[in-house]
Parts: sequence; C-alpha cells; structure tokens
Amino acid sequence: MHGFPPSTFQRRRSAALHRLGKGVMVLPSAGRVYRAGDSELPYRPDSELFYLTGWTEPDAVLVLRGFADDARVVLYVAPRDPAAEQWTGIRMGPGAAAERLGLPPADVRPLERLSSELPGLLTGADLVHARLGEAHGVGEDVGSVVVRSTVASLALARRRGARTGSGPRGIVDPGGILDELRLFKDAEEVRAMRAAADASVAGFEALFDRVVAGIDGEAEAEAELLRAFRRAGASGPAYAPITAAGVNACILHYGANDAPILEGDLLLVDAGAEVRMYAGDISRTIPVSGRFSTRQRELYEVVEAARASAVEACRPGRTVEAVHEAASLALVRGLVDLGVLSGDPAVLLAEEALRPFFPHRTSHWLGLETHDPGDYAREGRARLLEPGMVLTVEPGLYLPPPGLFQGLDLPDPDPAAPFRGLGIRIEDDILITDDGPENLTAALPTDPDALEARLTG
Ligand code: MG
Ligand code: MG
Repeated sequence: MHGFPPSTFQRRRSAALHRLGKGVMVLPSAGRVYRAGDSELPYRPDSELFYLTGWTEPDAVLVLRGFADDARVVLYVAPRDPAAEQWTGIRMGPGAAAERLGLPPADVRPLERLSSELPGLLTGADLVHARLGEAHGVGEDVGSVVVRSTVASLALARRRGARTGSGPRGIVDPGGILDELRLFKDAEEVRAMRAAADASVAGFEALFDRVVAGIDGEAEAEAELLRAFRRAGASGPAYAPITAAGVNACILHYGANDAPILEGDLLLVDAGAEVRMYAGDISRTIPVSGRFSTRQRELYEVVEAARASAVEACRPGRTVEAVHEAASLALVRGLVDLGVLSGDPAVLLAEEALRPFFPHRTSHWLGLETHDPGDYAREGRARLLEPGMVLTVEPGLYLPPPGLFQGLDLPDPDPAAPFRGLGIRIEDDILITDDGPENLTAALPTDPDALEARLTG
C-alpha cells in the first residue's frame, strides 16, 4: 500500500537508535476512532510507528532499545485471528510481519506477551521515550501495560538503580528524536510527497473543470475533489477539505461545505490528498464566474504578491520567521495601497495592524501529517531552513462583513468596506533545496490572469 521497501524503515530505525543512546522508546499504534456508537472512522495508522516500521494495522507496540545488544527492535502485533479477520480484514500476524518488515522472527512477537515482557525490556535504559497520556489510543489494556511498565521501571530504578548503576530516571517525549528526523525528507519521501502534491493538483483540476461547467454548491465542489483524489491514487483527503463560497471564506477552518454558491462568489478551496501516507495541502481562491470583479482582483493580487514573496524567501539559511515576515510585509503594503490601512508598513506591522486581516501564520511543516511536527524555533531563535524540509506557504486576507461574527468590531467609517465579505487564501507546498525553493504544487496556477484563462477554458 505505501510502497516503501523494508530498507527505508531499517535506515530510519538505525538513525533513531543512534539518537536514543542508552534510552528506550515505546511507540504504540494509533487506536481505532469511532464516528458514533460502534461506527468506525477509516483507520489512520500512527505516523511515528509508520515512520519507523511501515506498520499500518492497529494493535501493535514497537520497542526500540538503544542501549541493548540484542532485541534492539521488538515489535508486538496482534496474532492472526480468523473470527476477527472476517469482520475487520486480514491481519498480518507476527510471522508475515517479520518477513515484510525485515525483522528477525524472534523480535516480532504476539501482543499478548507485551505485559510480561515490557518491564524487562525497559530495564537498563537511562530514559524511557514514551507518551503516557496518549498510550490509551492503542486500546485501554495495551495502553495501561505501557503506562504501568514505564512507571514501574522508574520505581525499580529508584530502589535498585543506585546499586546497579542502571535503570531509567525519566520519561521524555519521543518527538524530541522523531520530530527532528521527520523534518528532513529523504529522496523516497520527496517522491511520495510529489505524488501527494500531484494527486492534490488533480483534485483541483477536476474541480476547475466542474466550475467551468457550472457548479451549484459547496457540497458539489467537495465531492469533485474527493472523487478526483481517489481516482489519482490517493487513500483519501489528508484532512477535511474546505470549500467555502462567499463570506464563508472568512471562516478559517470552515467545514460545513453545504451552502449554495452564488453568481459572482469567490470560492476558497483548501484541500489536499494523502498518498503513500504523505499529505498534500493546497489552497486556491477562484471566481466561480471565471472572472474576478475589480475589487476581488485588487485584493487577490495582494495575496498573490505575498505568496510569491514568501516562496522566494524559502531558501537554506533563511528562517521560517523570515518567510512569514516576507508574506506579512507584502500584505501590509498591499492593504496600504488599497487604502484599507494607512501609515508606514513597517510601523503597521510592528503595531500588529495586519492581525485582524491575517490572523494565522504563513507556514507549517508538511509530511506524514498536514501539520507535521517539528520545532519552528530552537532555544528561542527561529530555526534556519535546510534542504529536505517541506513547508507550506499560505498567506491570506479575510475581511468578514459586519454581523458575520458575534462582537465583530469594525471602525466607522470602515476603510475596508469595499472589500468586506471577501476571504482569500493561496497555498503552495515548498521543498527547500540547495538551489532554493521548489514549488511542488506549481502546476496549479495562482496568477490571476492564468487562473481566469484556466476557468474560462
Ligand atoms: Mg491547507
Ligand atoms: Mg496548510
């Protein structure tokens, strides 16, 4: 399903084991999530467990032991079970899992052995890298084994550690090691991310065709995206798509997607496909008539200039903060030119005058998750961009009309009045390379003339 060879995960485990030093890491699989009652949502494997093993089933726990000479990698999985498999699908079981994952058969074990073996596997480590609060996700019994064993290993070390000179003295977040590894995409991951970007673009292309033909509502727009994602080989959307028409585009995480689309509306679409477990994440804002009105185009051009300026800043040695500043400065300058703000752009930025119009950040990391983990700053300083990082660039401007939100306090007279009711976001996925930014989603136009040409066909 994911298409990565066992060697990919072996390489990642080696890197994690090296960073663990004398530590031990315990990673349970993601739990099943229910929509309501006993109706399960589609199962989404845990990103960290997947990253290190390629494992995509529930009911598993990985133990990595940096300090050990043997059993350095142990994976507990649910055994084959014909009765369960008839209801929920084929399980791999320990035998096939060892073969598929390239692990010694003795180190892929039935899950029922976890409770008796985990305390012993933790003994000798200096730190346990585990997330106690989230361990219940795997299922209450397995989660409580992880919690109990971890806590017991600390108590044991407290009693005996002084004599033996061993035993864990603390519990730390696995993200300290894994977030950092996941931040840098290798060639295979970049290939998967290109595939996710391409499938995402395919979804938007299908939607654009539909808009040209005439589209009734936000629901139909969402349906076009989802259909095209699956046709392009995606497992589905990487996150709940946003198809927001008219004033709904002023709601940042709008999700109802059930309103009619009216003539002359802008349609803000924020959606991405998941391919081989990796996410695409695109936003485009399009005039459903095929042509921007004068006011729509004026505001759109400001956001597009901010996008271009921010993408340009995505270079090794610059910071994520610099990308945000590039976008913010372009937005403020544009709003001054349009008369929405007045004053010196640098001063306006310092006074946070942009915040009511652009309340979110310009970028987030992208990878196995849409908002991929990783520090944006280290030791109080914005971190430098390096080749292999992938981030989004997504400036926006949102000018809700009077009365849309409770307590929305607008000046009177309102210099933004001509643009009220418009919400615009443009988002691309950017790979940092030695040569600068590579826009993975560049195939989908952002330039207003190119967009109009595409929509009017
Ligand atoms: Mg997005
Ligand atoms: Mg995004």
